[in-house]
Amino acid sequence: MTALVIEHAAIAAVDAAGTEHRQGHLVAENGVITAVGAGPAPRIEGAQVIDGAGCLATPGLVNTHHHLYQWATRGHATDHSLFEWLVDLYPVWARIGPAHVASANTAGLAWLALSGCTTAADHHYIYPNGHAADLVDAQIEAARRIGLRLHLARGSMDRGVSDGGLPPDHLVEEIDAALAATAEAVDRHHDPAPGSMLRIAVAPCSPFSVSTDLLRESAALARDKHVRLHTHLCETLDEAEFCAQVHGCDPVEYMEKVGWIDADAWLAHAVHLSPDAQRRLGAAGTGVAHCPSSNARLGTGLADVPAMLDAGIPVGLGVDGAASQEAGHLGEELRQAVYTARQRKGPHAMDARTALRLGTIGGARVLGRDAEIGSLETGKQADIALWDLTGLGHAGIAHPVAALVLGPPAPLRLLTVAGRPVVERGELRTADTTELARDLAAASANLREARDA
Ligand SMILES: [Zn+2]
Repeated sequence: MTALVIEHAAIAAVDAAGTEHRQGHLVAENGVITAVGAGPAPRIEGAQVIDGAGCLATPGLVNTHHHLYQWATRGHATDHSLFEWLVDLYPVWARIGPAHVASANTAGLAWLALSGCTTAADHHYIYPNGHAADLVDAQIEAARRIGLRLHLARGSMDRGVSDGGLPPDHLVEEIDAALAATAEAVDRHHDPAPGSMLRIAVAPCSPFSVSTDLLRESAALARDKHVRLHTHLCETLDEAEFCAQVHGCDPVEYMEKVGWIDADAWLAHAVHLSPDAQRRLGAAGTGVAHCPSSNARLGTGLADVPAMLDAGIPVGLGVDGAASQEAGHLGEELRQAVYTARQRKGPHAMDARTALRLGTIGGARVLGRDAEIGSLETGKQADIALWDLTGLGHAGIAHPVAALVLGPPAPLRLLTVAGRPVVERGELRTADTTELARDLAAASANLREARDA
């Protein structure tokens, strides 16, 4: 048996009752939380004991939307709208191979871990040059190396320029090939067991890069395989216009027609939702990955998360791809979620505790895992972020949750996934970050040179 005891820490359990302790303890045995409460910890023979004085323990953060491969293409098209940005980047992404993905995904996951993330969903929709299975293997290996739970959303695009889409034709897949490769990824890798480290989702990219048939067939495939469905939706008004012109309806109506709007699907962004669309998503239980920094970087708008929560929509946070949000820091998205809600609806639109819920149990619900992760409760996975609030950036802030959410990004005293330490005293335990940065710089330079050549 391996046992971990954290004592003398403030605790925000993020359970249904909103339990918090100014000074409490946590015990994890064999990767599962076995005790959480106020006051001193019970003595456990042979346990590793961490003194959490001055720290705040929260559930590990859940990232519900990302494109890790974009870590190798940060800093391109920095002053562009979404469609301009995509058109600029597609030719760069067309050159991506397994070595680029290995460098980018490992670096991106390391950075997520250092920002408090224990479960990461990654939407990868670029499979050029016949590398499909190799790229999936590289994504999985990166997550295994860093030690985070991965929800690999196997993306696809089949609507190239000649079909009225945005991606160049050589970057899209044939519909049958995309579906077969997605089914193969599910069959080979999806682990539905509780505590799973790897799940696969079916994830065609977006309504403007995917045919109606691929959307419909993807929904059928996901239901046949009992896995989740993911895509981008309602990110920009350009997309709404595209749907109105091509399909004669709004994007949510379109997704209803192709069988998507259900409790097993989650949508990235949902910046532009009518009240009626909010109501329909809420009634269906369709989740949303809110990506406030990416929305700000691309200037797409301020998502109305308070209204989504009122409508009963499950909402989690996402950093989105690092090419549209170079910071990629999940801890910072807690503060950005508060700021975005207040920019849109005033000072009472969202409090710090709600942002922490979005980043933890909200994300777990969006990924269908709220019975296993997302809160610090007995029986749940020991995915724990222990934030160090003793430094200059946080010392003296009146409440630890306010310090975490409204203060600068907090360093981690400890981050565990299933009780295994991934970060300790602010340092990644599972890989050498100097080496990861060197590999990332080389991969980025290689792609940049290929573009400039
Ligand atoms: Zn995205």
